[in-house]
Amino acid sequence: MSDYKLDTILAHAGINSDEKTGALIAPIYLSTTYQHPEFGQSTGFDYTRTKNPTRLTLEKTLAKIEKADYALVTSSGMAALVLLFNSFPEQSKIVAARDLYGGSFRWFNEQEKKGRYFFTYTNTEEEMLAAISEDTDYVFIETPTNPLMVEFDIAKVAEKAHAHGAKVIVDNTFYSPIYQNPIALGADIVLHSATKYLSGHNDVLAGVLITSDQAIYDKLFYDQNTTGPT
Ligand SMILES: *Cc1c(COP(=O)(O)O)cnc(C)c1O
Repeated sequence: MSDYKLDTILAHAGINSDEKTGALIAPIYLSTTYQHPEFGQSTGFDYTRTKNPTRLTLEKTLAKIEKADYALVTSSGMAALVLLFNSFPEQSKIVAARDLYGGSFRWFNEQEKKGRYFFTYTNTEEEMLAAISEDTDYVFIETPTNPLMVEFDIAKVAEKAHAHGAKVIVDNTFYSPIYQNPIALGADIVLHSATKYLSGHNDVLAGVLITSDQAIYDKLFYDQNTTGPT
């Protein structure tokens, strides 16, 4: 992690990332499969579901601007959400903001009906802080929420959640890393629909999960490689 200003980090993003050719701008690698130099050797890339040089450059950049160590880019914001929640143990208890992106709420509801997870929905920060208890496994917030723009104090929520052994997930789609860095405020995992402000030109569908917790990253990397929401 660097102390450079955001503008500087973004001006440098991907520049000279391609050591092999010295290409100044990060090339777009379309190959799905990679040749190994020798038997038993690898360039670090073998199959694009696992890892792709262009995606890796994007992941490093997104981790950096969210002031975190790791990022995993997915095919959409919903793919990121489902990848993340599928990594949680069955019967996990989740405290969530009631006002949520409609797609997230719809999927949460379907999972709850199947008996996979239990959700407690709260309308305000006060209600949320009161709802977090020893039983809570995860806290999920958007701040501000889509669509009602309810705000939650991430540091306060994280402090209460961590005191009870719960992890905090922040969907940071609306503020973007320009205005808010949830990991720096105590969140464990950040999610974005990169389709919105991160891309900003209505021409990209993408999502990302960001964390500084290596165990969480390793599990998500394993699951992403296994299930393929890349
Ligand atoms: C759009 C959106 C999502 C879902 O992302 P997609 O890229 O459309 O799959 C998740 N969270 C928020 C807050 C959103 O606005």
